[in-house]
Amino acid sequence: MGRRFKLVTLLGIRPDIIRMHKLIRLLDRHQKRNGYEHLFAHTGQHYDYELDEVFYRQLGVRRPDVNLQVGKSLKRRGGPTTYVHQTALLFERLAEFLEEEKPDAVLYLGDTNTVLSSVIVARQGIPVIHIEGGGRSYDWRMPEEKNRIVIDHLSDMIYCYLPRYREILLREGVPPYRIKVAGNLIVDAVEAFMGRAERSPILKRLGLVPRRYLLFTLHREENTADRAALTRTVKELIGLTEQLRCPAVFPLMPRVRRLLEGWRLMPLLNRAEILVTEPLGFFEFLKLEKHAQLIISDSGTVQEEALILGTPCLVVRRSTERPETIAAGATILSEGRLRQEALRAIRTLNKWDRTILNPFRTSPSERIFTDLVGRIKTGFFKKSRSYAFIKSDRLIREAYGRTIRRAVGAS
Ligand code: UDP
Repeated sequence: MGRRFKLVTLLGIRPDIIRMHKLIRLLDRHQKRNGYEHLFAHTGQHYDYELDEVFYRQLGVRRPDVNLQVGKSLKRRGGPTTYVHQTALLFERLAEFLEEEKPDAVLYLGDTNTVLSSVIVARQGIPVIHIEGGGRSYDWRMPEEKNRIVIDHLSDMIYCYLPRYREILLREGVPPYRIKVAGNLIVDAVEAFMGRAERSPILKRLGLVPRRYLLFTLHREENTADRAALTRTVKELIGLTEQLRCPAVFPLMPRVRRLLEGWRLMPLLNRAEILVTEPLGFFEFLKLEKHAQLIISDSGTVQEEALILGTPCLVVRRSTERPETIAAGATILSEGRLRQEALRAIRTLNKWDRTILNPFRTSPSERIFTDLVGRIKTGFFKKSRSYAFIKSDRLIREAYGRTIRRAVGAS
């Protein structure tokens, strides 16, 4: 018997585990019957308990088979931990892992530093699969925009959330046979866990009344890269809670807490009516999202969850790769006018279609699972790389002058 197709799922950060909880289970459960082997690997980009372990426990996701321990190793070394060091170590560890495991394809999600390592996978001649493809903010200042473009153009197969993303990829010259629209995976996560989230006592524990508090999260580079930007945002948030006479909850990522402490902004926050917490579990956070008067966040996933849950959301960014939430009337971009736009969001964002993130009736995880397994079984990852297949592509025919010659011959 031949060797079974070996599929590696490689994830790196908190929302990856949340979005992929169902697909990982499906890929695990049905491997033998469909003649493939599924390995789950983690790069270790996020490694703190609150950003990693808590999600396996709460969401019932099994632990990864392999952890490349990139974040922890850098921390142990005590040296610099910029994205450059992170990426360099990730590339090195991933190359060793690929050498050992020799996978037949590597499955990625999203636009993180983890997905940048697809360069190594593609360079080794191994097919790359990308979920969340085609998202573009068209804001070239955004680090994640580069990651998105790199991985999409290295991928053998791309799963998009919405038809619009497919159009974007086609416009960029990605051949249609590499693209499939599946709906947004976050829909599966909210649907699966909202019931349990509602039972969380978090509102009581924090002394909050539904629709009478704000919820903040901040972590993106454009808000945290320099002291002036972070100070401005923190002051605006404090000003807003004072103006509305409304408390706020602000779970801090460890990196952001270090910045706030280093730049002496914690005393400001502590004096205000802002409950600063550690990063919260998914159930607790979902419940806070559902019952907040307004969410103010620079997270793409929070932006989507707010739409599904029916809570207005101010996106503290200059641009977004998920403009569908704005078009739906569920979010507003702050574009540097945080307080003003927050007040507008509370006044104007009201009712919208909460189903737009999944244009299908079926579960996005199930759609990806069924399609991917079908491709594994029918040899897509080999066939789509054959010359006979590649030759049929319109752009390639044009590049080799075939279409032109035929057109000339016909005239
Ligand atoms: N989240 C959480 N606890 C928190 C803050 C966020 O469980 O304290 C969840 C949130 O519900 C969403 C995801 O983490 O599903 C968002 O992660 P993050 O903002 O880190 O990532 P991004 O979407 O910006 O990539």
